[in-house]
Amino acid sequence: MTDATPLPEHIDADRVVLPDGVLTDGWVEHRDGIVTAIGQNEAPVAGAYPWIFPGFVDGHCHGGGGASFDGGLEAARTAARTHAAHGTTTMLASLVSARVDVLAEQVGGLARAIRSGELGPVRGIHLEGPFLSPDHRGAHDPDALTPPTHEAVARLLAAGDGLVRMVTLAPELHGGLDTIEHLAAEGVVAAVGHTAADYALAREAFARGATVLTHASNAMMPVHHRAPGPVVAALETPGVRLEVILDGIHLHDAWARRLLLDAGERGVLVTDAMAAAAAQDGRYELGGLAVDVADGTARLADSGAIAGSTLTMDSAVRRALGVLGLDPVAVACAASAAPATALGLDGGAITVGGPAHLVALDSTYEVVGVLPGVG
Ligand SMILES: [Zn+2]
Repeated sequence: MTDATPLPEHIDADRVVLPDGVLTDGWVEHRDGIVTAIGQNEAPVAGAYPWIFPGFVDGHCHGGGGASFDGGLEAARTAARTHAAHGTTTMLASLVSARVDVLAEQVGGLARAIRSGELGPVRGIHLEGPFLSPDHRGAHDPDALTPPTHEAVARLLAAGDGLVRMVTLAPELHGGLDTIEHLAAEGVVAAVGHTAADYALAREAFARGATVLTHASNAMMPVHHRAPGPVVAALETPGVRLEVILDGIHLHDAWARRLLLDAGERGVLVTDAMAAAAAQDGRYELGGLAVDVADGTARLADSGAIAGSTLTMDSAVRRALGVLGLDPVAVACAASAAPATALGLDGGAITVGGPAHLVALDSTYEVVGVLPGVG
């Protein structure tokens, strides 16, 4: 946990990152959870926060603080609190592949906890699987993978009672493209991922209604000059957003920079964090599989496949600003506005009348304050 403190009602900041530019010597006021005014001081204010960013929005996160969203209510609370302390003010709870009946039970439990307000920033559920390619399963249990059926999808959506907001699936599976249409018709984001799809099939999946590419370049065909694959298909399709895991491990930093620059306002930072985020190295479990975490890198104990990240959103933002050298407005878009838009959630930008979801960073981009406070 960081030592992030609640923010005052009148917040002075050397720089406030707004959707269209950085306001220097600015201030933000809020009341009852809403931003009420934004303005500029005539001169720097002593004790002002170095930076105010919009609260981070993480659409792909399995856990943190030693706990996972599939581990019951107390574990889900710990995971949510951990990421809230690192500046995440809106997020989805991601579940890895499991048998449909098991998954439906997990979804039901999470949905009840979200509705009762017990999970802080968690606004919905992301199902990563079980409709994934066995050949690109990453850290998903092969025994849990299955082609999608209308009945299975309907059962999972019903268990969430409107709170399943995104489903990652492989469009090449039997029924895959029909399932994308089914999800889109239900108002659920269909995401292409853990897939053997080539460029043409990915284009078709997006034409049928998929709007997200799950962790671009990971667990899918790479970009090749004669076989450009799903990443190029996503870049070329207006309205499709590309998730980027910016931990220096899942993607080379230069490739991550290219993806974010090419995607523009469609680039989305996600953590894909597992339980070891903001926790110790050691042996963990992810969807029933043993995972070893060493130096912050999570790998399946048996195959060595990368098994999620140990990222928090503030760490991804530091990397985007520092190592990648992206400008703060672009970083705020990728960390907040783009994911909020992708998921149809409010927040993601600092605007008068918008939710008071704010993160104060110091001059080295460490979190020093979060609003709403960490429950
Ligand atoms: Zn994954």
